[in-house]
Amino acid sequence: MSGPRPVRAPRGTELSALGWQQEAALRMLQNNLDPEVAEHPDKLVVYGGTGKAARDWRSFDAMVRTLRTLKQDETMLVQSGRPVGVMQTHEWAPRVLIANSNLVGDWATWEEFRRLEALGLTMYGQMTAGSWIYIGTQGILQGTYETFSAVAAKKFGGTLAGTITLTAGLGGMGGAQPLAVTMNDGVAICIDVDPRAIERRIEHRYLDVRADSLDHALGLAVEARDARRPLSIGLLGNAAELLPRLLAMDAPIDIVTDQTSAHDPLAYLPVGIAFEDMADAAAKDPAGFTDRARESMARHVEAMVGFQDAGAEVFDYGNSIRGEARLAGYERAFAFPGFVPAYIRPLFCEGKGPFRWAALSGEASDIARTDRAILDLFPENESLARWIKLAGERVRFQGLPARICWLGQGERDRAGERFNDMVASGELAAPLAIGRDHLDCGSVASPYRETEGMRDGSDAIADWPLLNAMVNVASGASWVSVHHGGGVGMGRSLHAGQVTVADGTPLAGEKIRRVLTNDPGMGVIRHVDAGYEAAEAVADERGVRVPMRED
Ligand code: NAD
Repeated sequence: MSGPRPVRAPRGTELSALGWQQEAALRMLQNNLDPEVAEHPDKLVVYGGTGKAARDWRSFDAMVRTLRTLKQDETMLVQSGRPVGVMQTHEWAPRVLIANSNLVGDWATWEEFRRLEALGLTMYGQMTAGSWIYIGTQGILQGTYETFSAVAAKKFGGTLAGTITLTAGLGGMGGAQPLAVTMNDGVAICIDVDPRAIERRIEHRYLDVRADSLDHALGLAVEARDARRPLSIGLLGNAAELLPRLLAMDAPIDIVTDQTSAHDPLAYLPVGIAFEDMADAAAKDPAGFTDRARESMARHVEAMVGFQDAGAEVFDYGNSIRGEARLAGYERAFAFPGFVPAYIRPLFCEGKGPFRWAALSGEASDIARTDRAILDLFPENESLARWIKLAGERVRFQGLPARICWLGQGERDRAGERFNDMVASGELAAPLAIGRDHLDCGSVASPYRETEGMRDGSDAIADWPLLNAMVNVASGASWVSVHHGGGVGMGRSLHAGQVTVADGTPLAGEKIRRVLTNDPGMGVIRHVDAGYEAAEAVADERGVRVPMRED
């Protein structure tokens, strides 16, 4: 009987599969479950609530066994974490095709999903858990860095130096905020009700100092801001209490956001309940707790709107706090935008998104070499150069060494081809798996996040992720996935992913050129179709054909 056991991807150049394309899928599946990478590897859970890499241990074993014997002209089919078939295809076809967590529209609820999951018929794939390209917390750090970098570009002349950001939530994902702000040279005050969250971030060097009081935090912040010195400050307390107080004091805050776990009212501490009593209070009276949490979120969001009225840059960072505040009756909850329409959409128009790669050799020196190649390829991109340099210094690898950075149409293919050449020449010790998050420019339909407020109202149109998956299959990706419910939950998103292996062969080079041109190209055409002039300019400049513009 197969059951929980530690899993770790092999390193080096010895193959246990019949080729590098299959070996890469095998190693990345195993890497997702590496205890350094996965949140709960014994339960096959990688990240994001219950996002899994395989449905159960028997399915995991069957996938490993199948990948080891899979031929160059065969494709393994995975249905929600279980291998259900092997078909003869051809060498340009993906070696693995994955569909995770998909449900028919009217059935796409958590309730129905949980029922089917309990019957052993499905699993939650999140975005990169079930598609085998999760690389640990580097992903959220880079995404948060990119968002604050976009805030800086839009409002503060390209840097956060001399600004103070106010936010809350120093948990698993929110804990990336202080470092992302200081990497952009800004000052951050980060509130959390949990003293351990603050301590943990200081230990991991994501947060610089802890303040003793609100006045202490403000004093430290103003001093650092005036010296244009980056600094992040942890402040213990309830955001629903402290934000209104800071607003009443006319605190000189430039940017406000939030990453408390507001998407789940049972995980947001209402004012008037002590942190130590939170779990008990939520368990004893979930309905009453939910009402109180929503009421506090309304006060929290009201203060955020107050800061906006006073001239601050305010945005929702993807935790549904505006929706919860509105449920509590606060009418101006949506007075400030979500982060995608506010800052990320212009990047999506250029086909930019979270491009990433992992060194199958297991050697950190391979990533250092690819870092240098990126700096060499894009010398004019200062924000990218700053990220690559700081990531090299500050990011601790989890599992196989990996790197993420945002690249766009016309850039990813150049990087990918360079990487393939570096494998071919022996400059890298082994091939690379090149992929991305599903949170990308043309691969997701998610009206509460990536496609919120599309110019033509097409937020919920889900043809785009399906076309994205199909074009990646047609272009030569090594594995392609179509998922439902990642990020924002059941019924709220459809999204697709691809990973393409740079094994140094001319064939891989051809595939990489097509995939890494067409995949971000989907972002360009999706945004041209929705009426964004910025995307039209990129299409013209980089030769992306859009038939409706050719008449
Ligand atoms: P988490 O549960 O690990 O951390 C939440 C933190 O909020 C905890 O440390 C908790 O103590 C604190 N908190 C709760 N109530 C509070 C209050 N009233 N005042 C101050 N602090 C309070 O969650 P996480 O993984 O860090 O995710 C945070 C949120 O961000 C989630 O809602 C998640 O869905 C969202 N998210 C958004 C993105 C994105 O792309 N922007 C990415 C990941 C997560």
